[in-house]
Amino acid sequence: MSKIQALGLDVGSTTVKMVGLDAEGEMAWHFLEQAEPLLENQIARFLERARNVTGPLDGIPLVATGYGRGLVNQATRTVTEITCHARGIYRELGHGGTLVDIGGQDSKVIGISPQGKVIDFTMNDKCAAGTGRFLENTASRLKVSLDRMGPEALSVSDEVSISSTCTVFAESEVISLIAHGVSIASILRGLHRSLVKRMVSMILTVGLTPPLMLSGGVAQNPAIRQMLEEETGQKIILPHYPQLMGACGAALFALDA
Ligand code: ADP
Repeated sequence: MSKIQALGLDVGSTTVKMVGLDAEGEMAWHFLEQAEPLLENQIARFLERARNVTGPLDGIPLVATGYGRGLVNQATRTVTEITCHARGIYRELGHGGTLVDIGGQDSKVIGISPQGKVIDFTMNDKCAAGTGRFLENTASRLKVSLDRMGPEALSVSDEVSISSTCTVFAESEVISLIAHGVSIASILRGLHRSLVKRMVSMILTVGLTPPLMLSGGVAQNPAIRQMLEEETGQKIILPHYPQLMGACGAALFALDA
């Protein structure tokens, strides 16, 4: 018999993530896919996947989060990403502080109390600069894959300054820099710096209460982690599965039920 007692589904703008928890709230199963245009079909497929692991889903509470949470008709409840990320990270790390969540198309800074409650937050979901999309677009122009962007950026010490904060203009700037013979690694370093500087200004609007924690898919990028440490002077604390923190938090709310 499956150990899974609760499910969390995070329907993000870039990826869809699902987590199954056992009775103790430990992760027993997880699954992630790139988000597809027909989210309803994808959600149905995720539920089918879960059913293959758990057996019939009746009686297993499911909480949905993420920008597409309203499309999960089967959910017992929906909860915002901010609350879910805070809950997921607090469960794993066991302390408050400042959480930076950088996803594919939005980013958030969340102040978490020592008891795990959200005290303050700010969110950028209006502009691709300051999100994973900013790096992805420009790196694909440079023919560098997602998981090589960070290591490439860290492979050099010279860094070119990218003046455009807009993703579209940054792409044109990158093309012009290549034409001037600037190395791809130096450009990548500059692009990472630009994203990190935007994150730091968001952090300052909420206020930085250490420790600094990181979640979301972009947390897997080592250059972002290193530069965020350099720019804030704070060591970053990383959960085991930064990209799954929202789904974990949702599943913990489901387990409450
Ligand atoms: P959302 O919840 O907004 O859908 P995620 O938190 O899943 O987004 O983050 C997705 C983003 O994470 C992608 O757009 C990509 O930029 C980034 N990402 C995912 N994996 C990696 C990796 N290995 N290295 C660098 N960036 C990554």
